[in-house]
Amino acid sequence: MVYLRKPEWLKVEIGGLRYGKVGRVLDQYALNSVCEQAGCPNKSECFKSGTATFMLLGNHCTRNCTFCKVEHGLPQPADPDEPDKVAQAVAELGLRHVVVTSVTRDDLPDGGAGHFAATINSVRSHNPDTIIEVLIPDFQGNRQALQTVLDARPDILNHNVETVPELYNEIRPKAIFTRSIKLLQQTKEYVPGIFTKSGFMLGLGEEYTQVISLLKDLHIVGCDVVTIGQYLQPSLQHYPVKEYVHPDLFKKYKDIALGMGIPSVASGPLVRSSYHAEDDFKKFRHGRSAATAY
Ligand code: SF4
Repeated sequence: MVYLRKPEWLKVEIGGLRYGKVGRVLDQYALNSVCEQAGCPNKSECFKSGTATFMLLGNHCTRNCTFCKVEHGLPQPADPDEPDKVAQAVAELGLRHVVVTSVTRDDLPDGGAGHFAATINSVRSHNPDTIIEVLIPDFQGNRQALQTVLDARPDILNHNVETVPELYNEIRPKAIFTRSIKLLQQTKEYVPGIFTKSGFMLGLGEEYTQVISLLKDLHIVGCDVVTIGQYLQPSLQHYPVKEYVHPDLFKKYKDIALGMGIPSVASGPLVRSSYHAEDDFKKFRHGRSAATAY
């Protein structure tokens, strides 16, 4: 295997321990963050700016995507108090925009949709002015589960396609690309006014034409916000980085996506699904294109 040296534009401080107010609040309410579980390179910056993405339903995922650092294995019982604890943590951190995600729970009949809905309702009742973004799994295509989440009226429905369909077998073997695209389409059909968001990584061996085709698929289903970031290998046991994509190519994909008519695109090596989510959404909602390259 060829070891690729990390380029200058990817050399960032990856913070270790929990710290600061965010760390204290996560500890106080015994909550998980995907920032920590997935080893996000932006964790230090986000924690310092007082935000984090809450991860529901334990920290053991029932799937085994080869790019993902989140632990896999026997899932933990859902904590019935978790929705209220997230709501209190949001209030304590004074979050104006919260992102809530979860591990994938294929073991639960509704995939955890009811728990998402309870969390949205609780966050909203404790924090009526907070924008609520949910980053959901595909619920194995269970439309009723999706509607359960949407009936709770999140402001943004986010579902990542993660990579191009040609790489699904290697990267996300338990996911189906068309199922993920259909979820975004069904979301707009069920709640036409909702904002939808999706994201994917580069550097996994995707080809230029495959990325363009993916952007077209996202545009066709009315995706409002697209995020594109560089894949970083969490450990030698994970899928290898095939390429450190140059920032110029990130910018090119962004311009092409905007040119297609996708309203908001964040594209850059350190972009992640909920990175700068609040800023992007604010710019987007106020009608200005959020076309900023990080
Ligand atoms: S579904 Fe895949 S990407 Fe999501 S937490 Fe599980 S292993 Fe990670």
